[in-house]
Amino acid sequence: MPNKMIITCALSGAETTKAQAPALPVTPEELAASAEEACRAGASIVHLHARNADGTPTADVKIFKAAMDLIRKKCDVVIELTTGGAVGMTPEERIAPVALKPDMASLDCGTVNFGNDYIINTLPIMRQFALEMNKHGVRPTLECFDVSHVQSSHILIKEGLLKPPYHYGFVMNVPGALSLSVKTLSYMIDQMPPESYFTVMGVGRAHLPGIYGAIAAGGFIRVGFEDNIYYSKGRLAKSNAEFVERAVRITKEADLEIAKPGDVRKMFALKE
Ligand code: ZN
Repeated sequence: MPNKMIITCALSGAETTKAQAPALPVTPEELAASAEEACRAGASIVHLHARNADGTPTADVKIFKAAMDLIRKKCDVVIELTTGGAVGMTPEERIAPVALKPDMASLDCGTVNFGNDYIINTLPIMRQFALEMNKHGVRPTLECFDVSHVQSSHILIKEGLLKPPYHYGFVMNVPGALSLSVKTLSYMIDQMPPESYFTVMGVGRAHLPGIYGAIAAGGFIRVGFEDNIYYSKGRLAKSNAEFVERAVRITKEADLEIAKPGDVRKMFALKE
């Protein structure tokens, strides 16, 4: 069980809209300002999606680059790009921003329902993404929406496409996918190979149970508008930082230290 808590802030995701959450950061400038606030509050990783000016999701490498450059100017946070993209994007579009050499990137480990939609992640797509990340020295976060996804990651490990230390992201409670409970989380954890870390990403109502579950099980925390827009019942969050601040308070009550970006770079063996 690591004694330092890594808090990731998923700034915007692809689905959340400003109509749902007025404080949602959308433009590269807004994303960078939100990243800086989240980092100051105690987040050591920001998980990044890109949007067009009208708020629709995009895999445009230029927009990703603009956001990454602005974030790097403002703070030393570890940057994790999405390759989950958004519903309807091709695998080629989704993987393209990895060429920007972020510190980390998400690698979805299986096909999944996404509400009434779905995101396709076949084994050939997963292999292609792992190869591309290896080529650019990017550490994957193995996003698993289901137990079978953790098991699928073993196939890539056997093929030598993934290297330890492994970092799993358990995305729990997406409508149509695996819900969060002590039993489901424990079973996910049980399927991980040795030398693995994990972050719990509790979506919607699973947000707070995900934080407490991560602390209890020796994992890391993810918060942010991608996963949840309500700070409490019926009250929208004012900012990503507000979510991070609460996660920091809960972590400190559990007598754990908050990891700094430098700690993450060491633990996950990220490229300088
Ligand atoms: Zn994401």
